[in-house]
Amino acid sequence: MIVHLDADAYFASVEQAADPKLRGRPIAVGGEKRGIIASASYEARKLGIYTPMPTARARKLCPKLIVLPGDFEKYERFSRFMFSYAFDFTPEVEITSIDEGYFDLKGLRKGTPEAVAQTIRKAIAQRLKITVSEGIGSNKLVSQVASKLQKPASLIQVPRGHERDFLAPLPNHWLPNVGPKLSGTLKSAGLALIREVAQTPVEMLALLVGGYGRQLREFAHGIDQRPLVVEKQPAKSYGEQHTFESDVNEEAVLIAQLYKMADNLTAKVREDRCSFRTITLKLRYNDMQDVTRSTSLEEPSDLAEDIFPLFSSLLKKAWDRRVSVRLIGLKLSHIYGSVFRSELPLEADAMKRLKMQKKSHWW
Ligand SMILES: [Mg+2]
Repeated sequence: MIVHLDADAYFASVEQAADPKLRGRPIAVGGEKRGIIASASYEARKLGIYTPMPTARARKLCPKLIVLPGDFEKYERFSRFMFSYAFDFTPEVEITSIDEGYFDLKGLRKGTPEAVAQTIRKAIAQRLKITVSEGIGSNKLVSQVASKLQKPASLIQVPRGHERDFLAPLPNHWLPNVGPKLSGTLKSAGLALIREVAQTPVEMLALLVGGYGRQLREFAHGIDQRPLVVEKQPAKSYGEQHTFESDVNEEAVLIAQLYKMADNLTAKVREDRCSFRTITLKLRYNDMQDVTRSTSLEEPSDLAEDIFPLFSSLLKKAWDRRVSVRLIGLKLSHIYGSVFRSELPLEADAMKRLKMQKKSHWW
């Protein structure tokens, strides 16, 4: 069985955990750059605050709302603690974003998955003072939907064999890769519910969603073969590297390669409906010495345009020997969820890249 863990109102909860004065009060963490609320406490949600909502509107709606700037280093620290409780039970952990992840309990020696899920949430509540929701199911899709269906502080287990019945009555947007646009397309074809998607022949679905039809239908039946992507390092990242045919001495060539990799990697990040905060540049000199340099954005982003301006100084910091470069790599890490996504039309992006979903990772 697989458990999906998803922290509730994560940034706001961490702020409340870190400062007792904020507990029980309507608070929100504001995205500075884009002026939107990135996370709202449940007290604030009761007053009509939601994400993403323009901060100005939130203040107007709720004058006593406490809006804090995001402290992402703190959220990353809490995240490491939070997942450490899952690692106590299994090394099979896939951390998909700062506050979400899967763990596989198939090798569990004693106890039930439910008991383990309970132990983990209790430890997190006690030590970190934040609540999480968990879903238990036989695959990623079912466990993820189960964790999100009745937040906060929920625990839903879907028994093996009940996957299809569990999904059947839910709206189609619970299926992977079904964003607002695709959801609308399916709805206007009479497929508002997952049950209706499941009952539609593949050939019909293909007319609506192209090559995704077969997989979409499988998902609608509660079938999901996607394996957990377990990292040696307990963090997901997006990386790519390029070896030059001949050693490079010109900065412009390296920058051009970085632009290309940034475009590729951020497209993958968007396809996964995520954002990132940290950028790491790696160079390999022609004498095989490696050097890496990192920098972090003030707040997470999913756009290559946000990191282009950083390349020149990052490269200057990394390339401090007068030796030519054989290989260059770029890595995006500190992965966050969808709230920092840009508003670009992303559905096409996602569909196009669905087939190349295997991520490339390095070091
Ligand atoms: Mg969450």
